[in-house]
Parts: sequence; structure tokens; C-alpha cells
Amino acid sequence: MKFIEENCGVFGIYSKTECVNDIYQGLDFLQHRGQEYCGISTFDEGINHITHHGRVTNRFTAEELRSLKGTWGIGHVSLRDRQPMKWLTRAGEISLAFSGNVINAGELMEDMMKRGKSFYKGYDIEVISKIIIEEGNIINGISALSEKVKGSYSLVILTGKGIYASRDIYGFRPLILGGNSESYAVSSESRPMQNMDMEILRDVAPGEIVLINDKGFQTVEQLDSPRRAHCAFEWAYTASIDSIVDGVYVQEARSNLGESLAQRDIDEGNVVADIVAPVPMSGVGHALGYHKRSGINYQDVFLYNRYADRSYTQITQVAREKMAKRKLSVLPYVKGKSVILCDDSIVRGTQILNKVKDLKKAGAKEVHVRIACPPLMHPCKFGISTRSEGELLARKYLDTGDITTMEQLTDLEAWTARTIGADSVKFNTMDAFVESLLIPRGNLCLQCFDGVPPCKL
Ligand code: SF4
Repeated sequence: MKFIEENCGVFGIYSKTECVNDIYQGLDFLQHRGQEYCGISTFDEGINHITHHGRVTNRFTAEELRSLKGTWGIGHVSLRDRQPMKWLTRAGEISLAFSGNVINAGELMEDMMKRGKSFYKGYDIEVISKIIIEEGNIINGISALSEKVKGSYSLVILTGKGIYASRDIYGFRPLILGGNSESYAVSSESRPMQNMDMEILRDVAPGEIVLINDKGFQTVEQLDSPRRAHCAFEWAYTASIDSIVDGVYVQEARSNLGESLAQRDIDEGNVVADIVAPVPMSGVGHALGYHKRSGINYQDVFLYNRYADRSYTQITQVAREKMAKRKLSVLPYVKGKSVILCDDSIVRGTQILNKVKDLKKAGAKEVHVRIACPPLMHPCKFGISTRSEGELLARKYLDTGDITTMEQLTDLEAWTARTIGADSVKFNTMDAFVESLLIPRGNLCLQCFDGVPPCKL
């Protein structure tokens, strides 16, 4: 079984003027989706192309940016590999970048190698590129992806004719179109557009292939989409709180998740606390929702170090633990207080255990942990870094991975509280979770919670 360690974001723009600064800015607004690698390709007679290890604002020099000439281009931020990837094909130069994961990359590579193809590093983007190039034109190539690739992809392709943007037929990862009088843009999230004076126009539909050029956005093909399967984790954690994903404000979804946790506490009548606080920044929206429904004062208990990375996107466990310690320091105000501590999810449990420990050490009277997502029981196969089953904290208690009753959930919650040293732990139930996201259940991927893949794997 292949375990996934990938998370990333794409941005593309077709402009009336030089576009590199807009791509740079767009990527900076997507940096939370992956901090290990970044890259930009622009088109100006041919493709200009630079990738780096590190963050966009730390790595691109003014000289490099000046060299990336052209009025249309694409960019990428990633946790796992360098993109975009540039190719010289019989149809001219192209450059590709995607967000997602190719589950059957190994099988596809083996098949292509038997037919004489070679691979440089075997990255998913190489597999995607070769499938597209083999077909001889972009539209046929993207159609072939939908037949051959198991997994998720939101894709941008830079060509001499403009930028192609496409989303897999289930729409796992977001992809949004927007623009203004000067330019047309495509992005993994709406955030860059909101902050770059662009109007958010619409989401790319699952299976849609859009060509972006001086005429705007044209749907050049709409592939059959058997169902939608938007990643539920986008609203709970991945997307920035100021984004709109598939028509739903991330902030509203997070507030709803916090409210439903508070409602459960109100219904069960068993928690009286002095303050409700987030684990910054991922728990902020949830804690505000909890405060709104419960009336308990919202108060920070951690000071967030904005110069540290999110521990979730660090690639090794040691790096994650070190980063978690650098990231948050406790506010002494917590002494003697009973705290409701909100966060998005418990993956390995490392961060929440340390945070509870830090609060108790600083004198907190009680710490009640409230988690917006249901327990994570399965690794994601579609592009989020949740690693192996064995690393998921909830699986250490319930190794069948099957929560079917409220009793099982409350037993798991009691065990989790003991394990992380909290006075209590509660998760949202699956029903409350889905209802909070404001997306019909049948349009969501929930596989990491219930183990049911939304499509054939
Ligand atoms: S398995 Fe979970 S993290 Fe992965 S796409 Fe589905 S909902 Fe998102």
C-alpha cells in the first residue's frame, strides 16, 4: 500500500501585461498548501521556467523574476516535489503542475516502461505529463487521464495557446476561476483572487477542461463525472479560512463545526469552562463557532509564531515535533482556568498531547479538547499527508477502523482523553460534521473518516 505525503497548490494567470509578479503573489497566498518546493513557468515565445526548494518569497530573486518574461504563466507550491515540469513535445513546449495524487502511478509507469518510456524520478507529475504528451494533444491527453489515473488531480498546463485548467472527474481538490479587466486567473483557492483585486467567477466543474487565453475562459471539453467527491478536509483544515471552496465559505463551515461541538456539550450538559480557545491557527474558526453557540468567552491561550511552518506539512515526525514546539507559546493568563481547547483534527496526536501538557504545566485547571472532524481512521489516498494507518492515533484504540455506534465514539473519546492527558475529548459525529460543511453528503469524500472510497480504486 502506498501512503501519501503530498499537499500542494496551483496558480495560473493570462494577463494583458507581464504576469510573473502576479504568479509570485498568487503562490505566496497559497503557501499554506505546501512549503517545501515552489516553481514558476511563463510563456514568451518559449517557456521560461524556474523551480526552487523552499518558499516562494525566500527563494526567487529579483533577477530570476525579471527573467520570467511573458504575459501568461503558471506556478506551484508543494510539500513533495518540484513543479511545474517543463517538456519539449511534438506540439511545442508545455509546462504542467497539479495538486493531488496518482494512486496507481507505479502501475502506469510499469506499463509505459514496457512500451519504451523512461522516467526521471517517477513523480506523479511525470506520469501525468507522459500520458498527456503520448496522446498528441492536450484535450485528448486530459481525457486519457480520466480513464487511466486512479486518484485526484487539479491541473494547469501552460502552452503557446494559453493555459489549460482541469479538475479530475470527481473534483477532489478545488480549482477556482477568477479575474479582472486585466487578467484571467485559475487557482487552488479563491484567496489569491480576493487579495489581488480579482472577482471570483466560479469553480472548475469536475471533469471540465477550460482553456484560458485572451478571450477569457472557454470550456473546451466536459468529461462525464459519475459523482462529486470534494475533499471534506479542505473546509476543516487545508484551505485558508478566508477562502471560498466549491461555493462554501471556509470560515462559515468552521464556525458551524465549532457550533455543533458546543451544541453537543449543551445537550449533554457536562462541561462548564471559563474560556474557549483555539490551537492556532487551525482551530480558530472552530473555537469562534464554539464561543458563538455556548456563550463562553473566547480567549487565546497560545501565542502563534508566524515564522514557523505548520507542523502538519513537515515531512518527518522529528521535524514536525520540533516545529510544533517552536510554533506556539502558552499565555500565562491560563493559570487557574478551565479551558475548552478547539482544533480541526487529531492525526498522530503529537501536537494536541504537547499542547494539553503545556497548558497544564502553565497552571490550567482543566483542559477539554474539542475536535471539529470525526476521528481519522484511514490514511488519505487522494493527496493529504496522513501517512499510514498505524500512525493514526484513533487506530491505536480501534484497530478495525469502524465507528458505527455512539458508544464506540464515546469509548474512543475517553481513551483519547486519557492518552493525551486531557480532562475530556469530543469529536464531531459524522452526521454533525457533514451537516456543518453545507455540502450534500453524496458530494463529499469522507474516506479518511469512514473508509469508503468515493470511487473505484
Ligand atoms: S480521504 Fe480524507 S483527506 Fe483524503 S480526499 Fe478524502 S476527505 Fe480529503
